[in-house]
Amino acid sequence: MSKLRIFCVANQKGGVGKTTTTVNLAAGLAQIGQRVLAIDLDPQGNATMGSGVDKRALPASVYDVLLESATVADARQRSPKGGYDVVGANRELAGAEIELVNQERRERRLKKALLAVRDEYDFVLIDCPPSLSLLTLNGLVAAHGVIVPMQCEYFALEGLSDLVNTIKQVHANLNPDLQLIGLLRVMFDPRITLQQQVSDQLKAHFGEKVFDTVIPRNVRLAEAPSYGQPGVVFDPASRGAQAFVEFAQEMVKRVG
Ligand code: ADP
Ligand code: MG
Repeated sequence: MSKLRIFCVANQKGGVGKTTTTVNLAAGLAQIGQRVLAIDLDPQGNATMGSGVDKRALPASVYDVLLESATVADARQRSPKGGYDVVGANRELAGAEIELVNQERRERRLKKALLAVRDEYDFVLIDCPPSLSLLTLNGLVAAHGVIVPMQCEYFALEGLSDLVNTIKQVHANLNPDLQLIGLLRVMFDPRITLQQQVSDQLKAHFGEKVFDTVIPRNVRLAEAPSYGQPGVVFDPASRGAQAFVEFAQEMVKRVG
């Protein structure tokens, strides 16, 4: 029996590929036989919709789970094509931050909720919002590790230090299990010299913490969400899909 691994997909910048990584890694892991739960922690609900689950018609959402008015089992839905379960989110989640402010153990709600389903999954993937907010903190407190998708651009390294410091603080104060699992280079275009240079810098700084798999820029990955499918399912032959299946295999090898 394999043991449950819980990972946050986090980066405080928006538009860097967090949601694309979450849904495609979920589908990739499902394809290689892993039992996967994806949690959408972003009020935008993109991971929900991108998994083919309607964020406007959720029986219960991650908001209800955080406020303890629903369990994960109440809220989860099956991604129709993805082969994994989803706890969805919608705009309602934007209010959770304020409603939780005066509540006890507010940063441990997700961790507590996941305990009830820990035997049902091999992987839980948490799609974090583009901030280091109480929502992201709930993800980091619940997780064993963080996967950081990033574009190899000029300011990429600069933003990374805030995230690395946050991970260190959470590790020291709230969750001794938390580790930086790795940096995933996404939307990569090897023809762009700057991207190659930033990629080399990343490897020089972070060594083994840089995943071997590189996700190319691939339009099929960007088209898939409008069909309510992960790219891995939408066009399995595309370079983007193949890279995510390779990444799923790398994850299982690293931590499985
Ligand atoms: P985040 O969740 O960090 O905000 P997304 O995963 O939503 O980022 O990605 C931002 C945009 O870039 C989306 O429109 C998405 O479809 C697109 N995108 C993400 N990864 C790729 C890729 N490898 N190739 C092409 N487009 C991508
Ligand atoms: Mg997103």
